[in-house]
Amino acid sequence: MLIPSHLDADAGLVHRAKRIALSMLTTRVASSVLRRLTRGRCIVFTLHRFEDPAHGIAGHPEQILRSQLELLRRERCLVLGLMELIEGLRDGSLRERSAIAFTVDDGYGDFARVGSRIFAAFDCPVTVFLPTAFIDGAEWLWWDRIEAAILSTDRRALAIEINDAALKYELGSVSDRMRISLDLTTRLKRVPNAVRLSVIEQILAACGSSLAAAPPLRYAPMSWHDVRRLGASGVTFGPHTVTHPILPMTGDEQAAFELETSWRRVKESTPNAIPIFSYPNGDYSSREQSILARMNLAAAVCSEPRYLDVKESAAEYRFAVPRFPHYDDQPHFVKIINGLEGAVVNVRRLFRTSRVSAAWS
Ligand SMILES: [Zn+2]
Repeated sequence: MLIPSHLDADAGLVHRAKRIALSMLTTRVASSVLRRLTRGRCIVFTLHRFEDPAHGIAGHPEQILRSQLELLRRERCLVLGLMELIEGLRDGSLRERSAIAFTVDDGYGDFARVGSRIFAAFDCPVTVFLPTAFIDGAEWLWWDRIEAAILSTDRRALAIEINDAALKYELGSVSDRMRISLDLTTRLKRVPNAVRLSVIEQILAACGSSLAAAPPLRYAPMSWHDVRRLGASGVTFGPHTVTHPILPMTGDEQAAFELETSWRRVKESTPNAIPIFSYPNGDYSSREQSILARMNLAAAVCSEPRYLDVKESAAEYRFAVPRFPHYDDQPHFVKIINGLEGAVVNVRRLFRTSRVSAAWS
């Protein structure tokens, strides 16, 4: 079909405009127009591990995190400590602003060696949530025991029973074993705590593993000495239970123990403790929220990946502060900063908007 030349030119123009708009969306942080989309919406990011090649640890690569923090600084984004962000929401001072906070769960040693240096280089506040028995140094995080056993066994097959379900796995390459370890970990997040603990022992026995009592460096925590040292340079710390169970899968007594003991331990270990709790795996029930209210904690963070709107009432978000995972791919990171995560991007509308704003280049 012949296309009239003026329509052809229009189509070409629209196509080019779409391309330009999309590339702007994915390579630059917001223009003043896009910024309006995030006004009054806060972003809390969750990170876990930091790449540490010297010790064979995979995680957020240093160069990428540096370039993201550089971007936030260049664009003058407001980055606050988590406690300041929660207080700003409470006293209304963030009503017309959008703010970002960074959190790190689990307290692995790679934060003390690598992650903390990167945040410090940008004077970027960060809060680390600590499972306290892990920081004591005598315990592994439970999923790491599964991974270490499956990676190190010379058995070629694994037969496991979880709640009468028989599971069989072929143990092949390292990547196969990593997948199996993740599969078992995922399944064990959905069973009662006592079942989880007994299946872990079953996995270790089936692998013929006798793991050391304390984790090797690849799976090791930061120490309480690191906590005090990093606290002196501004890092803040919050509780993340004692043994990192999935809280709704525990009994009443254990749930109260995990919340109260971890908070007491963090508070007595560093003056930089903040009264904000992080739920393991982001899982919680109204029981945990009631215990935290009774403990008079200021807030709790979960893993619901969405913006925190300043118009939400504190009663709504206080014990369920949403957090985005931290993405290493730049376009996804920029999309969240731009306020576009979860939105259907109308590129035509953005292009029209761009014509009234010359500030995109
Ligand atoms: Zn955790």
